[in-house]
Amino acid sequence: MTAYELLVSGLQQFIPEVSPQAVDKLLRFSDLLLEKNKVMNLTAVTDPCEVVTRHFLDCASLAPYIKEGQTVLDVGTGAGFPGLPLAILCPNAQFTLLDAQRKRIDFLSEVVDALGLDNVMPVHARAEEFALLHRASFDLAVSRAVADLRVLCELALPMVKVGGAFYAMKAADCMDEVGSASHAFAVLGAPASELLHYTVPHNGVERVLVRLKKTDATPDKYPRRFKKIQTDPL
Ligand code: SAM
Repeated sequence: MTAYELLVSGLQQFIPEVSPQAVDKLLRFSDLLLEKNKVMNLTAVTDPCEVVTRHFLDCASLAPYIKEGQTVLDVGTGAGFPGLPLAILCPNAQFTLLDAQRKRIDFLSEVVDALGLDNVMPVHARAEEFALLHRASFDLAVSRAVADLRVLCELALPMVKVGGAFYAMKAADCMDEVGSASHAFAVLGAPASELLHYTVPHNGVERVLVRLKKTDATPDKYPRRFKKIQTDPL
């Protein structure tokens, strides 16, 4: 199958109707990613079909949980995952893509311009510093492959509104990690975790979305400085 065929058939698992414009933008993003990857380290993936499965279809698993008009923060977006494919697939939601590495954010700004995306704002900042000015500001936060849940939750949950949710994309064997983070979930205002299992279309990889619904405000003292978050996780 071609990358196009993998993409169109795989997306159907998560989204009933995908516009041809969205498919076209995803494939152009893949081209830009693989081209830039020749000169800077953005992804270990070099094959367009693997960009579709390992990146686009994995990230598309979140699309059903994003509603029209919502604001979504991607913490540690790197080369734009999961936030950029989601912004293409959910054009009526607003996305902030946050990363501590300027070169990655510069790349994302180039992609946003090239694809004419008007619902994406790439931001160069550390999450724990951005949180000081953006407490309880987003309906949803999302994140993939950034940190252990105890650390990640302290970075992300303070920026989620009460009534919103944080979705952490994890490997299927994340049960111990989730168990170890139960104290952190409670302290940060999202005591009940849910595991949403899915299988990435075409490559069959089992994955989990850890959903944390924010029911209480995060105490003002979080997030702490990054060194403290890392050395003394909740
Ligand atoms: N989420 C992307 C993905 O799934 O491909 C990128 C994963 S990459 C392994 C981790 C990214 O998190 C890096 O780009 C790094 O700069 C970013 N990151 C780590 N800690 C961060 C922090 N405290 N604030 C902002 N970005 C952070």
